[in-house]
Amino acid sequence: MRAARARSAELDLGPSGLNAVLWSDVDAEERDAIEVDGRARGADGLPLAGVPVVVKDNIATLGLPTTCGSRILEGYVSPFEATAVARLRTAGAVVVGKSNMDEFGMGSSTEHSAYGPARNPHDVRRVPGGSSGGSAAAVAAGAVRVALGSETGGSVRQPAAFCGIVGVKPTYGRVSRYGLVAFASSLDQVGVFGRTVDDAAVALGAIAGRDPHDATSADFDVPDYRAADGQGLAGLRIGLPREYFPKSLDAGMRARLDAAVDAMRGAGAEIVEVSLPHTELAIPTYYIVAPAEASSNLARFDGVRYGTRAPAGDLRELYERTRSGGFGPEVTRRILLGTYVLSAGYYDAYYRKAQEVRGLIARDFAHAFEKADLLFTPTTPTPAFALGALSDPYEMYLSDIFTVTANLAGVPAMSVPVGRVDGLPVGGQLIAPHFGEPAMFRAAYALERALGAAAHA
Ligand code: GLN
Repeated sequence: MRAARARSAELDLGPSGLNAVLWSDVDAEERDAIEVDGRARGADGLPLAGVPVVVKDNIATLGLPTTCGSRILEGYVSPFEATAVARLRTAGAVVVGKSNMDEFGMGSSTEHSAYGPARNPHDVRRVPGGSSGGSAAAVAAGAVRVALGSETGGSVRQPAAFCGIVGVKPTYGRVSRYGLVAFASSLDQVGVFGRTVDDAAVALGAIAGRDPHDATSADFDVPDYRAADGQGLAGLRIGLPREYFPKSLDAGMRARLDAAVDAMRGAGAEIVEVSLPHTELAIPTYYIVAPAEASSNLARFDGVRYGTRAPAGDLRELYERTRSGGFGPEVTRRILLGTYVLSAGYYDAYYRKAQEVRGLIARDFAHAFEKADLLFTPTTPTPAFALGALSDPYEMYLSDIFTVTANLAGVPAMSVPVGRVDGLPVGGQLIAPHFGEPAMFRAAYALERALGAAAHA
């Protein structure tokens, strides 16, 4: 714990440095650590005893603010704790901070945070990715080994790829969403970051499983994800979806991904080609479904119950001033877009259509999983981009092209480091069928072993 704190200070995780951590409380952390120490002595096996973790700022914690990177929730402290956080604490982890993020999870760079952008520890002129950029930066910098993030369309995997660490989006329903502030409820899922595959496996094992507070959490046993280590890949068919390896893919990234494929073949996997033909519809579909749900979920931030309340003479003025002043431009854009696609005249043309296409995308995966046990793709189309480089919202949306599909289909996926191009990390993505996390971890462990130092070199 103290080493982590010293390292954090040295790295400057605060606003004058990486701006990865927004809120922390050293005294509370110290008390928690002493309490865990006592429990760990009495118990056999607290899997995360004394492990410092940071938690994305849209996941409710007792004792620290939960602002979702937004002005509208400035100073808000939740009266209850998210199940994922409570379970980490039960496993012995100590929450040392709330991490920076794109406001309400809307973004791919952490530049949409109301509290200033986070930076990539590999090159501070570049973004750490988003929306869980602060969590990824804190892990990549070496301040903590494990962090919680959340995913709606790639917000754990993309920053993991940009920062050269492991990031896991579980199957929809694998982890309780209780206490995760809703962005798009049919896509949202809490995810984990780890410095290594094993760290991520332990963290996911600690938070997964049925929760009576979340009706969408699945009532399936949680396997021991660590049991997948050392199994090799004999008998496993790994599919390469051709739509995810476009000709335009950077040659350096392509070479790293090819080396990863060779490594998996070397570990015994059979490599097959597959197709996910509706991939090109994924971004338009996601950017209808997600804003539609967001416009409904974010209606609750009106200055009455939560966070900031603007001074106003009447109710209409209260809503107008609170919401106009409290939400940043990207969140405003999403609310407007979502309200539009749900409006009476456009519902059938946009929202219903998008739901139908979502079904086609899910079917693509089902077909691919008849030919392959797992899929392997690049996590992102490019390595980490420079701060300010993607000022056009549509260009920013396109950086999610390889990740939103797993959220739309509800399947689990993870990013693992496969090497570097010009000093910047490259992520490879493993995608599994629903509740196929054990096979996904099996490949991730094998890849990490086979690539060894080359994954980080
Ligand atoms: N970048 C995507 C978006 O802006 C995904 C964000 C997320 O997964 N929370 O919506």
